[in-house]
Amino acid sequence: MNTQNSKEAYKQAVKHIPGGVNSPVRAFNSVGGDPIFIESAKGCKVTDIDKNEYIDYVGSWGPMILGHSHPDVVEALHQAAIKGTSFGAPTLMETEMAELICEMIPSIESVRMVNSGTEATMSALRLARGYTQRDLVIKFEGCYHGHGDSFLIKAGSGALTLGTPNSPGITKGTARDTLTASYNNLDSVVQLFAEYKDQIAAVILEPVTGNMGVVRPTDEFIQGIRKACTDNGALLIFDEVMTGFRVAKGGAQEILGITPDLTTLGKIIGGGLPVGAYGGKKEIMDHLAPNGPVYQAGTLSGNPMAMAAGLTTLKKLHHTEGFYEELGEKAAFLVAGLQKNLDDLNFPAVINRVGSMFTVFFTEEKEVNNFSDVMKCDTDMYAKYFRLGLESGIYTAPSQFEAGFVSIAHTQEDLQTTIDNSYKALQQLKQ
Ligand SMILES: *Cc1c(COP(=O)(O)O)cnc(C)c1O
Repeated sequence: MNTQNSKEAYKQAVKHIPGGVNSPVRAFNSVGGDPIFIESAKGCKVTDIDKNEYIDYVGSWGPMILGHSHPDVVEALHQAAIKGTSFGAPTLMETEMAELICEMIPSIESVRMVNSGTEATMSALRLARGYTQRDLVIKFEGCYHGHGDSFLIKAGSGALTLGTPNSPGITKGTARDTLTASYNNLDSVVQLFAEYKDQIAAVILEPVTGNMGVVRPTDEFIQGIRKACTDNGALLIFDEVMTGFRVAKGGAQEILGITPDLTTLGKIIGGGLPVGAYGGKKEIMDHLAPNGPVYQAGTLSGNPMAMAAGLTTLKKLHHTEGFYEELGEKAAFLVAGLQKNLDDLNFPAVINRVGSMFTVFFTEEKEVNNFSDVMKCDTDMYAKYFRLGLESGIYTAPSQFEAGFVSIAHTQEDLQTTIDNSYKALQQLKQ
């Protein structure tokens, strides 16, 4: 390909790729314009094929917590490739990975590696159903758990952005087995447990949401769900594909002080390669084949390339003193600057931040705590803000309904540039 700019590249791509993208969140449908095609990335910066450089807050949608092409990760991948990229037989790295995950997230006693977050949540739900011998699952409006059939009911992320939260192609039977409740509304969960007594296998949620933008659960809500699951013999599944190793070393469950029965992981755990994992109590995990009857498998699961990148990343997170404090301070500095800009120029907006995840919601509401609050946002305003940001060298998600991610590679100078450029963008928006 000798295409020199993103516009041409996109025209070329749409000919043979649906919508020109291999994941719909990459499309610019909701913000206008064409997607930028990335040439390379290093640290917190990405460069497109038009040779523009951007300070990146997408971070490949979460994984790049160390920044792009971290030298240690690149070296580990190099070493792994030389030794062979896949064997379909056990390796020492897989055991090391499992041990490290169990150490960092104490609720996980046993863990199975898969190849994506989608696979992790699909498999965890199958396991929960097999274990409880029940069919129904409760999920929440605006939460996204990958593109498994059971979860594409009132789903967040790209499904929400593109207006397809209930996807065609899901059978009525599958749709019937998924019950939806409202985030931060404990009553909506309690009612479903009362209505479907002894039929609910699991409750799954993003313990801090990212896929409708960042929303934190109230203590009452999250503690109430834990109790409702225990009282009714249902499993509590924390989908920490985004929040795991992101909001704290031990994920959202560490900061919330809640022990789920099963946890799903992805994104950071692969260090930029395609990886997912699910784990939890050994007694539950032992229902998986080959120990138990619940079947789940994968030709490339736990492959050396993915394990090398993931392990290198996790070890850095685990062993770097004060890593999460420093990351949190960077994000707090950025968010304080963005908030001041909004206040100084009288923009009605709310910024939610948990650790290094944040979302700027353009809204007249005083708080954003659930899906209906999120839906009141001014998506046109977001689109304009996004485009002005992009023109000034700031790359954020092309959707109001996503999280931004700060990496450890963002320097004070990068963050200050972002704040300054955001001020100019807001000034232009005023005109
Ligand atoms: C990204 C994400 C998924 C899906 O992971 P993929 O690797 O894209 O399949 C599932 N759950 C949550 C919370 C996510 O953020």
